[in-house]
Amino acid sequence: MSTPESPGGGPAATRLPLRTCVGCRRRRPRPDLVRLVAGVAGAVILDIPARAPGRGAYLCRDSGVACLRAAQRRRSLSRSLRVRENDIDPETLGPQLRELAEEDSPSPP
Ligand SMILES: [Zn+2]
Repeated sequence: MSTPESPGGGPAATRLPLRTCVGCRRRRPRPDLVRLVAGVAGAVILDIPARAPGRGAYLCRDSGVACLRAAQRRRSLSRSLRVRENDIDPETLGPQLRELAEEDSPSPP
């Protein structure tokens, strides 16, 4: 009996695999990040269930838009996914990341 929620990173958080955000380079438990993969057409897409095969990269879920921008600035996303910068479309990914972040943050009643 353990609660998945452990703000601040209690003992439960240590069991979670850590991944590094390609935007801000912070290491965080995997559920706090969203996975991106290079899709069949070469374009970079979000892999929400994180089950797509192949090379993946991670961005923070709660600040995905900012981290995507940071990742583009240093080209770390294209480098980890082995795609061209052109294959990353912030116009498509931005709104999706924003939606995820909103979904995630508990809105006060
Ligand atoms: Zn980040």
